[in-house]
Amino acid sequence: MEGCDLSNVSVVDNALSLQNKIAAIRRAVIADFDGTLTKYMVNGRRGQSSHGLLRQENPEFDAKRKALYEYYHPLEFSPTIPIQEKTKLMEEWWGKTHNLLIEGGLTYDAIRESVANSAITFREGVVELFEFLEERDIPVLIFSAGLADIIEEVLRQKVHRSFRNVKIVSNRMIFDDDGRLISFKGKLIHSLNKNEHALDMAAPVHEHLGDVDGVIDDSASVKKRTNVLLLGDHLGDLGMSDGLDYETSISVGFLNDNIENNLASYRKAFDVVYLNDAPMWGVVKLASELCSTEYA
Ligand SMILES: [Mg+2]
Repeated sequence: MEGCDLSNVSVVDNALSLQNKIAAIRRAVIADFDGTLTKYMVNGRRGQSSHGLLRQENPEFDAKRKALYEYYHPLEFSPTIPIQEKTKLMEEWWGKTHNLLIEGGLTYDAIRESVANSAITFREGVVELFEFLEERDIPVLIFSAGLADIIEEVLRQKVHRSFRNVKIVSNRMIFDDDGRLISFKGKLIHSLNKNEHALDMAAPVHEHLGDVDGVIDDSASVKKRTNVLLLGDHLGDLGMSDGLDYETSISVGFLNDNIENNLASYRKAFDVVYLNDAPMWGVVKLASELCSTEYA
């Protein structure tokens, strides 16, 4: 029988098709930071956020930011305020907070020290997830309404290494030569306008994946597709992938708070929902499954 030859032919065919598939499939992970990559509870207490951990040299300004938190935070989760009004309130809150950081003369040294003294911890398995993705050259975008400079410092101090595939899209500070904060770069990212920033976020993904000028080339013989794994702890985080031309998006939601009231909506919105401050192992498994089945 000439079955052997036939099987050889089919092997070549598969190899070509495999090449095409490999060329066509690009993957990206988009992750929120606070309460998603980081734990909600740390040592039995609420873990701190990238905003919340910050202590300025002048404690008067910390008190002012705390007063803003106490006023605006309940409004952020109010079920009665319409979304447009809420978005304005969030803009107000973030704007005032950023101004207090500038007025209070925040220094980079204070950031370093705040992170060193903070109660912020990554979920177990986050480092392994980043390593797994780095080995496969899959970009990870950390998309946060927090503060980019603090997130970077948290990564430096808590993980002790950097990942070439990890990029941060968040509110970025500009310091003067003395290391004092003078302004913020670009448009404000607050908790309710992540979708408006989705395009800024998409640019580094396209860049990482080798698209020219961050534009997807639809005329390519094999249309480029991106499979996105999205990680968040708020429904608003689902807007993070709006700017990407993706084929498939698998969303993972961490439901940290008010579980009874939120479970139904989270289950509807996210493909997978984790409760009780779950570690990242399930996502590591999911990522490895996605990587192994895509070639099958
Ligand atoms: Mg969050």
